Amino acid sequence: MKIGVPKEIKNHEYRVGLTPESVSEFTARGHSVAVETGAGLGIGADDEAYVAAGARILAGADEVFASADMIIKVKEPLAQERAKLRPGQILYTYLHLAPDPAQTDDLLKSGAICIAYETVTGVGGRGLPLLKPMSQVAGRLSIQAGASALEKSKGGRGVLLGGVPGVRAGKVVVIGGGVVGFNAAQMAVGLHADVTILDRDPEVLERLSTHFEASANIVFSTRAALEAELSQADLVIGAVLVPGAAAPKLVTREMLSLMQPGSVMVDVAIDQGGCFETSHATTHADPTYVVDGIVHYCVANMPGAVSRTSTYALNNVTLPHALNIADKGWKDALSANPGLADGLNVCDGKLTNQAVASSLGRTC
Ligand code: NAD
Repeated sequence: MKIGVPKEIKNHEYRVGLTPESVSEFTARGHSVAVETGAGLGIGADDEAYVAAGARILAGADEVFASADMIIKVKEPLAQERAKLRPGQILYTYLHLAPDPAQTDDLLKSGAICIAYETVTGVGGRGLPLLKPMSQVAGRLSIQAGASALEKSKGGRGVLLGGVPGVRAGKVVVIGGGVVGFNAAQMAVGLHADVTILDRDPEVLERLSTHFEASANIVFSTRAALEAELSQADLVIGAVLVPGAAAPKLVTREMLSLMQPGSVMVDVAIDQGGCFETSHATTHADPTYVVDGIVHYCVANMPGAVSRTSTYALNNVTLPHALNIADKGWKDALSANPGLADGLNVCDGKLTNQAVASSLGRTC
């Protein structure tokens, strides 16, 4: 199969659909890969690295789209990319169609076969394995971002999370102990911070307790418990998710008055509207703002900051499916794997994912 990897053109998007190592996997199996010049520069991979992996370098996106049976990307295609798709061409990338009728209409019109990373499911329909690595990245990064915002010159209260011998460690409160929360807690524990994780799911609470033992406090999440934790927190990580719903506003504006001035709140759930009442989305260029003396960090695309790690983490989960599609053709690859079939969002001018269609108010 002919694979095409265009350069990502969304603002400040530095990830790329395939790493040079992934390209080698395709070329070793007899597939051909065309990469747009400069596509890998954001992860430190130049054209020579792709050529060494067996790719051809093409001068622009037009050539890449025209040459490929399957386009492999990271972000949803922008209007100018959608215009380059043709009937029967496979598009394999994050799409997030539910809130995006304009993109949906263009993809329907294109006649392309569009497989969305975010709706591919795991064994037995469980989990979203192609979203998980980005939650792992965001969770781990949230502690780095929070630790940096706690520095006095950045507006924080001047606390080092790990403390030093003779001085107390900083207190980190993680709300939500799923993928983001677990990874945040792991990093905070690793820094020797004083860590508390709140969740409401008994199975999650049990898993966290077994894993962290005495190195973190695991607490059932109620309003009262949260208020008690907030009053002592240096850093609060918002990592809740209620599937299919906007994030619940667990920290109200009123609760900020309980907190110590200069404390930091990182709202990782901002891409679902945020779990703090005072959150609004920020960018890597200007990530923080202050409300009632509390520093807020609410970057909606945190993994973009670490494009190299994020691209490699994403390729680890997207590559096996992509190789299957290239080896077998999309129809056979999807029939052999119901989880991958859940990723099919648009096919031959029709919506094919029930949940996506329903949230757009349409039918399959
Ligand atoms: P997850 O489903 O693995 O975990 C969410 C957890 O929240 C679950 O354990 C659930 O029990 C818990 N929860 C629900 N209601 C709660 C409550 N009232 N109190 C305490 N816990 C509660 O989800 P995840 O993968 O960890 O993702 C968390 C959020 O981070 C999502 O909104 C996701 O979209 C977002 N995210 C953001 C970025 C970013 O760049 N900002 C990147 C990746 C993920």
